[in-house]
Amino acid sequence: MGCDTSRYAQVPREEKQRLFDQVTADERFGHVLYGCYECGICVATCPSARFYDFSPRKIAQATAREDVDLVYKFMNEDVWDCSQCFSCDKCPRGNSPGGLITILREVAVRNGLKTAKEALEGYGRIIYKIMSTGTQVAPDMLQPSAFPDWGPHVKEISENLPWWRRALPPETLHTTESSWDVSEKTLSELYLIWHMTGVMDMIQEVDEGLHMILMDVMEEKLEEAGFDLHPDGED
Ligand code: SF4
Ligand code: SF4
Repeated sequence: MGCDTSRYAQVPREEKQRLFDQVTADERFGHVLYGCYECGICVATCPSARFYDFSPRKIAQATAREDVDLVYKFMNEDVWDCSQCFSCDKCPRGNSPGGLITILREVAVRNGLKTAKEALEGYGRIIYKIMSTGTQVAPDMLQPSAFPDWGPHVKEISENLPWWRRALPPETLHTTESSWDVSEKTLSELYLIWHMTGVMDMIQEVDEGLHMILMDVMEEKLEEAGFDLHPDGED
């Protein structure tokens, strides 16, 4: 971590600049970064900064200074330590470092960076579950291999899942199979939103296999609901 950019020295400068330009071209960019006083208030409010070698100040600062090499390093590493809580919106300069990080993450995903694929690997199962049931994580999914960043106790908890399930009263949390019902209309709308807003394109960049499975599920549901995802006959 830190500000050592040497491990990305082999990445051409033009490529780093290309991604940086995508960040600044984002229509939200002008609302998340106005400059930086380097006051550190965002760091003081940031929960991730307490647990990781992570600083929203450095990310805001490097972006404001157009330090393309450092921004590339942050885009590959640090941005995945942000919990997107937006406590840093208390910035006296009016910045939203969390919003800036959102843009950096999206550029990383849209461009299929290897580091983004690795950071999001464990979330494929959550995305699949949301898409197929309309709900997200259940205790069954708490496995150390999928969530190493959940800390040292995840292994111990995952070994005792049957007991944890019995201790959790709501029926919906007991297994991945049982969850509350989501109406067909809601699911179709969810699929349509993900399709039309480019979310599916982003998933395709980070996980081709998951994208194929989701498209199968979505297309069937949307066809039944009367929508055609390929009106011009393209695949
Ligand atoms: S709070 Fe705002 S001005 Fe202060 S260091 Fe963070 S981003 Fe910069
Ligand atoms: S949004 Fe990210 S950078 Fe901002 S306070 Fe929360 S964890 Fe820290």
